[in-house]
Amino acid sequence: MKRRDFISSTVTLTAAGLFSSQAFARDEQTKGFTWKDGKKWVYSITYDEGVIDLFKYAIPLHRKYEIPGHLAIVTDQIGKVRILPGSSYHGFSIMDKDQIKSLVDEGWGVSCHSMSHCGVTVENAQVEVVEAKAKMEEILEMPITIFTVPGSNHGHAPSLLVAEDAGYNAIMTIYDRVNTIDTDLMWLGRIPLHTEYPGPFYTRFDPYKGFLLASKVGGWVIDYNHCPMPNKPVHPAKDVTSEELEQRFQALKEFGGDDVWIADCNEVVDYLLNDPIAQQARANAPDPLDDVYNLEMRQTYSVLKEG
Ligand SMILES: [Zn+2]
Repeated sequence: MKRRDFISSTVTLTAAGLFSSQAFARDEQTKGFTWKDGKKWVYSITYDEGVIDLFKYAIPLHRKYEIPGHLAIVTDQIGKVRILPGSSYHGFSIMDKDQIKSLVDEGWGVSCHSMSHCGVTVENAQVEVVEAKAKMEEILEMPITIFTVPGSNHGHAPSLLVAEDAGYNAIMTIYDRVNTIDTDLMWLGRIPLHTEYPGPFYTRFDPYKGFLLASKVGGWVIDYNHCPMPNKPVHPAKDVTSEELEQRFQALKEFGGDDVWIADCNEVVDYLLNDPIAQQARANAPDPLDDVYNLEMRQTYSVLKEG
């Protein structure tokens, strides 16, 4: 057998093949699905905290490349200096209501990143997840329907216990992965945009990260970072430089071309909630708690749910 024949006869790269053992059934279910305007995959980018410096170092690039962004905002930090000793972003000024709203007018979206960023636990979830949403809606005078887990994924399980009842449609985490149309909306992954991860691999910035996979499986890339800065990231594992952000946008435009739908996360979640094929695919997808991935969170969540 020629090498090329071998490849074409054995490699069928599909969303289901990559993410589940029930490959065939799931591919059948997603047949006929397209993203908005017939696009083949989706790109979103989020900035946790919403620091004012974004206006200097990131927003001009968004305008230049016509890419809407998304702010994950801590309710009690709106319009204040962030006082959170130990955080890489301690002492940064956070956008006020008018600044946030001006970006919403440009097509940006907002999610709730908890009340205080102290980390969600079973004990504080009512305040950090539920009350934080109501208070943010009051301040910003708009519905807030996505929760973005603060700190680390350890807050994901306690958030899951209360988010749906509070009226959230989705939860964004920092599981580093590409989402597909049947991803549970309460388990959305985000891809960290970073200059360099810590050891042992020291993974270097890759402007194309996730794009090939997303284009192959009709997936959704959500980038995660905080505040790009010129020449040097604030934190090499949590941010890129402004130059790298521009490379990311150039890679997106070059690789994605007409195939990619570039949209705020809220718009994408709404699309997935309303599309009948996506609804069906999610309904038949394996429970994330049965996934081969998410092991640590599954264990935490199972314990919390039973407790
Ligand atoms: Zn944060």
